[in-house]
Amino acid sequence: MVPLMGMFRALVSWLAWPGLLAVCVVTTEKGFALKQPQIGFYLTYAALTAALLLLERWMPHEVEWSPPDGQLAHDLGHTLLSTTAVQGALVFSSMVGVSLGFATLSGAQYGIWPRTWPMWLQVSFGLAVLEFTLYWAHRLAHEWQRLWYFHAIHHSVSKLWAINNGRFHFVDALKSVLPGIVLLLVLGAPMDVLTWLSALGAYIGMLTHCNVRMRFGPLSAVFNTPELHRWHHSRDTREGNKNYGESLMLWDWVFGTWFNAHQRPPADIGIAEVMPLRFWGQVMWPFQRRRGRGDGDSSKEALLF
Ligand SMILES: [Zn+2]
Repeated sequence: MVPLMGMFRALVSWLAWPGLLAVCVVTTEKGFALKQPQIGFYLTYAALTAALLLLERWMPHEVEWSPPDGQLAHDLGHTLLSTTAVQGALVFSSMVGVSLGFATLSGAQYGIWPRTWPMWLQVSFGLAVLEFTLYWAHRLAHEWQRLWYFHAIHHSVSKLWAINNGRFHFVDALKSVLPGIVLLLVLGAPMDVLTWLSALGAYIGMLTHCNVRMRFGPLSAVFNTPELHRWHHSRDTREGNKNYGESLMLWDWVFGTWFNAHQRPPADIGIAEVMPLRFWGQVMWPFQRRRGRGDGDSSKEALLF
C-alpha cells in the first residue's frame, strides 16, 4: 500500500506542473470557443488556485513553508491593488487614446502583427515579445536600487506559496506590465492574443510560486518553474539575481542569467532590508526609502493593516 502511494506521489510530482497547465489551456480554449473567454479564465484560475492549495497541503515541497506567515491579507491586498492599478491604467490609456490600444479594442486592424498566423503561433510570438519587456523590467528592478525598493515587497516573503504570487507593489506591477502591453498594442496584437497572454501569465505565475513537491526535468529549460523561481528568491544575490523570466526562460538564456544548481534551493528566503509588517507601511516604504527615510523596523510594527 505504502509503495503504491509512493509511486502515485512520484507520478503526480512529474505530471502536476505540465498537466495543470495543459488543463488550464484546454479550459481557456473552451471559454474562447463559447465566446466567453473572460469567464473561462476566471473559472480556470479559481480551479487552479484550489488545486494548488490542496496539493500544497498533501505534498508540500518545503514543510516549513506550510504554516501561516501572517501576510495572507497583505498578499491579497497587494494583488488587488496592483491588478486594479494595471487595469485602470489600460482603461485610461484607451479612453484618452494615449496608446493605440483603442484601435485594437475597437477591432480596427493596423500594425505589423501577423494576423494570418494560427492563434497558437500568434500567442507564442506575443509571449516572446512580452517576455522581453518583462525580463528587462524585472532585471532592472534587481539591479537598480530605486526600482528594487518597489520590487522588494515581492521578495520580502519568508515562504513561497500559490497565494503570494501576485504580491507586487502597484508601482512595480505598472512598470513591469505596461511597456509590454503598449509594445504589443503598437504592433497591432488582437485582443484575443492579449487575453491569451494575460491568462497564460496568470496560470504560470501561480504555478511558479506554488509550494508543491514537483519534478520538472527539461521543462525548467523552457519555462519559469518553481525550482528556478526558488533560486530567484534566494537571499544570496549570486543566486537571486538570476531567472528573471516571468513565464519563459528564453531571454535568460540569451542574456546569460538562467540558473539552476544541482542541489535543493534554500528554504530560508527573503531580503536584507527589514520590511514593515503593516500593509500601508509596505505600500509607503519604497517612497520613504527614496527620500532616505523609513527603515521599516518590523519590531515596532503591529501585524495589522
Ligand atoms: Zn524578482
